[in-house]
Amino acid sequence: MKLKQRAPLSRFLTIRPRDAVCDLYFPESVDDLVRFTVLERDHHLLGGGSNIIAGTVRKPVVTLALLEGRSVTEDIDRRQVAVSMPAWTRIGPLIDYLVANGLSGLEFMAGIPGTVGGAIVGNAAPKGHSWDGVVRKVIYVKEGSVLTATPRFDYRRILDMPEPPYILLAAELVLAKDTAAKVRTRVKAFQKKRLAIPYPSAGSLFKNPEGASAGELLETAGCKGLAVGDAALYEKHANIVINRGNAAYADFVALRDEATARVKKTHGVRLEPEVKFWE
Ligand SMILES: Cc1cc2nc3c(=O)[nH]c(=O)nc-3n(C[C@H](O)[C@H](O)[C@H](O)COP(=O)(O)OP(=O)(O)OC[C@H]3O[C@@H](n4cnc5c(N)ncnc54)[C@H](O)[C@@H]3O)c2cc1C
Repeated sequence: MKLKQRAPLSRFLTIRPRDAVCDLYFPESVDDLVRFTVLERDHHLLGGGSNIIAGTVRKPVVTLALLEGRSVTEDIDRRQVAVSMPAWTRIGPLIDYLVANGLSGLEFMAGIPGTVGGAIVGNAAPKGHSWDGVVRKVIYVKEGSVLTATPRFDYRRILDMPEPPYILLAAELVLAKDTAAKVRTRVKAFQKKRLAIPYPSAGSLFKNPEGASAGELLETAGCKGLAVGDAALYEKHANIVINRGNAAYADFVALRDEATARVKKTHGVRLEPEVKFWE
């Protein structure tokens, strides 16, 4: 197992907080990873880093970046296949694979950054879509044991899993057979709907409260373009958190707290962060 003490974390996080630092563990095999979860029961798992803002992180952080594995596809019947994917597979290459093989069911993920593990744990999707019905099984590691589960999903949540921390190793996905051309057309349609964000970003800062849009609540509370130093809410979408250049962790925390207070004061609603804050 490789360990980088006091490793700068900024380049691993899509929003690039300038002062993010942690002890970063790189297991080189699944056995290494299993041992890690026994020695360091309380830890963070770093996936694609597209939904995390970090400062000086006290817990040990582990990344699956050095693990090796590949996807395996098997027919279920005439219409469906089961695809086993390592959790560290990036969403971009996953979409390319699905297009190339004419496999349908996850087109909605086109244009969303991150890894399969991070997306499943947070049920990442555009509005109105979910990993429910696509994930048949997950394999995960918790405190030295390799286990399986058949999860269900809720808004930005995986259900039927133990208390975190646990580490998803792989997922078995059920996808429909289609033609490459049809899958490509739907992927392009989803890509076209994506908002271009010309800054380092961690996506949506807050979850949508039940029956409401966090973006609308923020906008009507005067938060569009709100900034603390270089940490800001994007001028074109009030719920998108961006780094205009050199933002530090404390800037993002102050921005989150100011936006939360403004929405609470204006609408009486307490927003919950979607982005994970690590310190
Ligand atoms: C420009 C931009 C656009 C985005 N658009 C969307 C969108 O439309 N919809 C949406 O839902 N999200 C969106 N996001 C957020 C983000 O892309 C997703 O949440 C993504 O799926 C997170 O995956 P990740 O691998 O980067 O996870 P990370 O950011 O690395 O981690 C997020 C959380 O998941 C946990 N985690 C990651 N991998 C594993 C694993 N293998 N096992 C256990 N836990 C794990 C981490 O510990 C952490 O708690 C966007 C982000 C950006 C930057």
